[in-house]
Amino acid sequence: MSHSLEVESWNRRRSGFYNRNNGLLRMKTFYIETFGCQMNVHDSEKVMGTLLRRGYRQVDSPESADLVLYNTCSIRDKAEQKVFNRLQQFKKTGNGKVFGVLGCVAQQEGERIFERAPHVGMVVGSASYHKLPDLLGQLETGNRRVTGLELDTDETFETPFARRDNPHRAYITIIEGCDKSCAYCVVPFTRGPERSRGSGGILREARDLAETGYTEIQLLGQNVNSYRDPSPAGWDFATLLRNVACVPGMRRVRFTTSHPRDFVKEIIDAIEDVPALCNHVHLPVQSGSSRMLGRMQRLYTRDEYMRRIEWMKRASRDIAITTDIIVGFPGETEEDFEQTLQLLDEIEYDSLFSFKYSPRPNTPALRLEGQIAEEEKGRRLTILQEKQRAIQIRRNAGYVGTVEEVHIEGYNKALQQWIGRTSQNKTLNFYDAPNDGSKEDLLGRYLPVRVTRAGPNSLVGERVQ
Ligand code: SF4
Repeated sequence: MSHSLEVESWNRRRSGFYNRNNGLLRMKTFYIETFGCQMNVHDSEKVMGTLLRRGYRQVDSPESADLVLYNTCSIRDKAEQKVFNRLQQFKKTGNGKVFGVLGCVAQQEGERIFERAPHVGMVVGSASYHKLPDLLGQLETGNRRVTGLELDTDETFETPFARRDNPHRAYITIIEGCDKSCAYCVVPFTRGPERSRGSGGILREARDLAETGYTEIQLLGQNVNSYRDPSPAGWDFATLLRNVACVPGMRRVRFTTSHPRDFVKEIIDAIEDVPALCNHVHLPVQSGSSRMLGRMQRLYTRDEYMRRIEWMKRASRDIAITTDIIVGFPGETEEDFEQTLQLLDEIEYDSLFSFKYSPRPNTPALRLEGQIAEEEKGRRLTILQEKQRAIQIRRNAGYVGTVEEVHIEGYNKALQQWIGRTSQNKTLNFYDAPNDGSKEDLLGRYLPVRVTRAGPNSLVGERVQ
């Protein structure tokens, strides 16, 4: 069947659905799948909140939903392909459902999504989520295709009701978008320019969360360090951190993600002064070579990055440092890669996320010479990950014998272990009374645990009575 015939036939099938419902689309159940970062996870919580408020009910499979939403990530090609594969599955069997593509792929591909997947009815980028109630209204009253793709907005996505998926840690967005222009990154195109939320709204949300029982929150943004309070208070990020961490009832405050260029000493001073700020900083470096950092348009050198690491290493608190690294960026020589490996030895990160460079549409890196073969990228990634694994084994072994406070987030029945997290964001599992209702329920509590064993990715211990 030709493409246009296929579209026409699909439209007919779909209009049948509309007619059966007297011209109105009765979508009352929704399914949502989220790809990508914590920003997306929290955006999905807000989308769910908006839908639940409109009377929708969440179901746990796309088959049983009237409205199927994919909140997408386009940071790497693989993540983008996954979404189209999902949509493909329903090309023939999705009759009667409405499919929506949200997030970064929506913003990047725009109305082209309708061509690639004609059964999609809604395409909305993250800068337009505030329009969701209106767009849903249009779908419900018979519009077949709605889009929200504007980027030139001053608005942040504020919703009075976010459905929180994680019962132990709540996310609060403090800044949306990004004004940097890293050569490999699609975010400035998909999430728009930086927009900070007023500190009053952020504090209100933190207090509300504390009142509902949350003791741990994570402040989110593409670059939280460049937070600038638009309200007359005019707080910078470090001041916001201090104030959020002083909300009564808050035991732990985390933040992500940081950009080294805007990471100032005042942030470490705040961590030193305020116990509720966690002993953890995620500071993406991307490469250990200043030459590569220049090509990546990262706006700092290796030395400038190291100065920030020294602030953390000199702090009296035991601050865990984690990072992101890209291998095989165009023009990366063996010597540049070697400098990244040396950086790992020098800093000894507690953990890292490492990726092969993935060319993305519209980004300046596409035009750079010296693209590296996939096989070579894979080789470098393996070397880097093996080195980091050895570092983590060594670093985590240093915790054996220490007593750490854990926030208890779950129970692993198979292993009969409670799952806890330390202030350094390390997983520390431990044995205690079973979670079978016969003894006390430890979920959500903070307890001291002595570390007895260490692996590359987690610690094991026993509760200190
Ligand atoms: S700081 Fe760079 S990598 Fe991070 S979101 Fe902005 S452009 Fe992308």
